[in-house]
Amino acid sequence: SKPVVAIVGRPNVGKSTLFNVLAGENISIVKDTPGVTRDRIYAEVTWLDKSFTMIDTGGIEPDSNDIILSQMREQAQIAIDTADVIVFLVDVRQGMVDADAKVADMLRRSTKPVVLVVNKVDSFEKFMMDVYEFYNLGIGEPIPVSASSRLGLGDMLDEIVKHF
Ligand code: GDP
Ligand code: MG
Repeated sequence: SKPVVAIVGRPNVGKSTLFNVLAGENISIVKDTPGVTRDRIYAEVTWLDKSFTMIDTGGIEPDSNDIILSQMREQAQIAIDTADVIVFLVDVRQGMVDADAKVADMLRRSTKPVVLVVNKVDSFEKFMMDVYEFYNLGIGEPIPVSASSRLGLGDMLDEIVKHF
């Protein structure tokens, strides 16, 4: 069976947007409307000669900070248990926050390969300095992307399929 790649990250970092772009169709609902449910969180993705199954672990995401962290821990644990590669998605505009660091600690302790992806880098000139901050998570080199502007996705996919 195909390798499984799970996307983990805080609410609003752009997990569903990235998932939809890679899946090539609108099958995971981007949160604009409160209370939306989504019908599908799995997609088959092919990059060069490699295929994988991608999972958006987001689900319906909470607003309160303590619930966010506990749900992120749950998502990360599911990804550690089921995925072959974990994409840890963070948001350059919100910067590095405590919940990111806590989840990064969990991911670092697992043996699964983690690809650290920094989203919302809509302009590489404007935001690159802020991307370097994420080196401090201690899980490797941050890869800048803009899911909504479709920037950096090739480099990100190269990095993901390297681990298969
Ligand atoms: P999720 O909660 O992690 O699944 O995040 P969503 O995919 O629902 O996106 C949350 C918000 O971020 C939405 O308003 C998206 O349009 C926005 N967003 C996603 N990707 C980008 C991006 O690359 N750049 C910018 N500026 N906004 C983005
Ligand atoms: Mg989502």
